[in-house]
Amino acid sequence: MTRSISILGATGSIGDSTLDLIRSQPGQWRVVALSANCSAEKLARLAVEFSADVAVVGNEQCLPELRQHLSGSGIAAAGGAQALCEAAARPADITVAAIVGCAGLAPTMAAIGQGRTVALANKEALVSAGEVMTRLVAQHGTTLLPVDSEHNAIFQCLQGGNVEDVRWITLTASGGPFRTKSQAELEAATPAQAVAHPNWDMGAKISVDSATMMNKGLEFIEAFHLFPVGLDRLRIIVHPQSVIHSMVEYRDGSTLAQLGPSDMRVPIASTLAWPQRMDTCCKPLDLAAIGELTFFAPDEERFPATKLAREAAHAGGAAPAVLNAANEVAVAAFLAGQIRFTQISAIVARTLDSYAPVAPGDLDAVLAVDAEARVRAAEMMENA
Ligand code: NAD
Ligand code: MG
Repeated sequence: MTRSISILGATGSIGDSTLDLIRSQPGQWRVVALSANCSAEKLARLAVEFSADVAVVGNEQCLPELRQHLSGSGIAAAGGAQALCEAAARPADITVAAIVGCAGLAPTMAAIGQGRTVALANKEALVSAGEVMTRLVAQHGTTLLPVDSEHNAIFQCLQGGNVEDVRWITLTASGGPFRTKSQAELEAATPAQAVAHPNWDMGAKISVDSATMMNKGLEFIEAFHLFPVGLDRLRIIVHPQSVIHSMVEYRDGSTLAQLGPSDMRVPIASTLAWPQRMDTCCKPLDLAAIGELTFFAPDEERFPATKLAREAAHAGGAAPAVLNAANEVAVAAFLAGQIRFTQISAIVARTLDSYAPVAPGDLDAVLAVDAEARVRAAEMMENA
């Protein structure tokens, strides 16, 4: 049986992994829409390879180049924020939401509006929109499958269980490339060092988030929205080998964990095949070769981001959207060489402290909070 799929953020790291799996099942998939921000040449190449119905660039200025690469292919080309949402709303059995940042929020909401299945990698969208997104999911009866490896692990560990019986959900964190670095070394950390993750090969933004531990902070909020056990039952543990992707402890004392190689194709495959399973060519776990699994409590002195995220989660309302927007601005500035590594969390903290916008009730209100928080975070940087 052929199933149809759209991939938002098809040219990124998650997009690559997803298309690799689709490639491994010839004849089983029909590709509806593929999107990128710009990367017109790569997007066009993928659209041709997978015979997509439409290819969309979020940045309208890249549309002429996309058109040029697609001329004569019969594949429709489109550009701009509105076109992205229209493509996301085209009927597809499953949509993989893999745009990075709050830029993916409106298209993800459009995909949710189809009432089918959305495989969510774009954690920033859920962190920013929170209940606005989960309400839309409930309203349309959409199946939301988590791609993020931790949440995918938790989702698997909850199969056959009841959330009422959960004592703890434990998110594992690798600790990132700077886990053992001193405060002085963190002050001097460069973008090249920050994106060199020891276990995972990912896009630049999430790699920096892993280095600051904001990734785990965002995932804490993501878990809160995906699994209704309450904030007090969520915790984080550092596990440098990234073999256990997360755990669920039940009230009888049983802990279920999901283990796997540090390869995003494993959680993505579980969403593509769900509730069945599919083959992947990922190297199987060799536990004897790994030898040891170790665990540490997070150090929130050197890595304050998880504390900021937990506080934002407890504050609720607009706070997670502000946290996320400020972080996106600060990470971009760090990658551009404009601020130091340790200033990322400082800017997020100061932006959160500077004001308290009202809780957004719909998508436009979330986007307004996001836009204003970006302006404020940029001001914080000027005064930093
Ligand atoms: P990436 O930077 O490699 O790719 C991002 C994709 O989004 C690209 O296709 C890019 O063209 C597109 N994009 C970027 N900005 C855009 C904009 N303004 N408008 C429209 N499209 C835009 O990122 P990634 O590592 O693949 O991560 C994607 C999402 O998945 C992120 O939310 C990340 O947190 C999450 N995630 C990634 C991994 C991983 O291993 N890479 C793991 C878990 C979760
Ligand atoms: Mg993750």
